[in-house]
Amino acid sequence: MIRFNVPPFTGKETEYIIKAVNNQKICGDGEFTAKCNQWLEEKTGTKKALLTTSCTHATELAAILADIKPGDEVIMPSYTFVSTADAFVLRGATAVFVDIRPDTMNIDENLIEAAITEKTKAIVPVHYAGVGCEMDTIMAIAQKHNLKVIEDAAQGIMSTYKGKALGTFGEFGCFSFHETKNFSIGEGGALLIRDEENIEPAEIIREKGTNRAKFFRGQIDKYTWVDKGSSYLPSELNAAYLYAQLELANEITENRMNTWNTYYEGLKDLADAGKIELPFIPENCTHNAHMFYFKAADLEERTKLIAFLKEKDILAVFHYVPLHSAPAGLKFGRFAGEDRYTTRESERLVRLPLYYNLEKEKTEYIIKCVKEFYGTV
Ligand SMILES: *Cc1c(COP(=O)(O)O)cnc(C)c1O
Repeated sequence: MIRFNVPPFTGKETEYIIKAVNNQKICGDGEFTAKCNQWLEEKTGTKKALLTTSCTHATELAAILADIKPGDEVIMPSYTFVSTADAFVLRGATAVFVDIRPDTMNIDENLIEAAITEKTKAIVPVHYAGVGCEMDTIMAIAQKHNLKVIEDAAQGIMSTYKGKALGTFGEFGCFSFHETKNFSIGEGGALLIRDEENIEPAEIIREKGTNRAKFFRGQIDKYTWVDKGSSYLPSELNAAYLYAQLELANEITENRMNTWNTYYEGLKDLADAGKIELPFIPENCTHNAHMFYFKAADLEERTKLIAFLKEKDILAVFHYVPLHSAPAGLKFGRFAGEDRYTTRESERLVRLPLYYNLEKEKTEYIIKCVKEFYGTV
């Protein structure tokens, strides 16, 4: 069976974990966490990056920092993972879902303004498949209405919009290092902080409401409980594992990009013949080959295709049943405007296996099978 995902492994992970063990410092914010934070800051050009226990937690942290309260409304796409909404709903806010653009599957920036009410507090763009949302428009709307922008860049590490890293446009950006992401520690994430004044509050909330980070830097001689907080910092063992992959970030990305390009080129005939639709990358975006998807004609065709590929020992998947139609979505959210594309396009989308070191022969076999399904081999 060709698996849908295999978590990346570069070989150095275990060596670094042993090093962390030998350091006799395995709680958070040791040598490897500092290295990862610094790598993220340099790579993205953000003021401050903090490793977290997940992207979900990074988003929760951002929601606390943005002072999201019961009664607030937060604008986001419905076509996304549950965490995008969870982080805000947990603080008592209502998720206000806006339709997506059918070309990128990202929130339609032109529909955001109509969804804004007196209660709107923030906009949460999700960079689907590591392809940037139209950030110029979104940032202009946020500025005009005095709203915070929290980017769900869970899939967006190494991607850019107009040359600038995803996750660095809004007040906060959230990365994921979940098993299924380009760089992975099983469970993990990071919070990117754009503005100086949010750095210390973020450090405090992440460390149980204490000023421990300041203490570690030698800026104070005792640390204490100074505000509300939680525990959002990962263990050094996780950071050590992650650092091995960040060191090889370019290689991992290039490797995934080769697979992505092989799929794209291999399936182009089918797209030209009007049988499928290939992903669209806007000119001002570079992507990170986080996923390869294409669109079948409709739900029925997609269901048959996935079953057909399964018979050929290929695990292809779909995802994101739109949040507004899920039980919790009905309870904690509402759709603003018309659902023209969210449901329809989500039913057409199928994802092919894509992971670090997926063999070229397997990629070609998968392409051949997709073509066979469409009767063009
Ligand atoms: C993976 C993912 C998340 C959640 O990431 P975790 O690190 O598992 O919490 C959130 N949003 C999107 C769009 C994702 O793809």
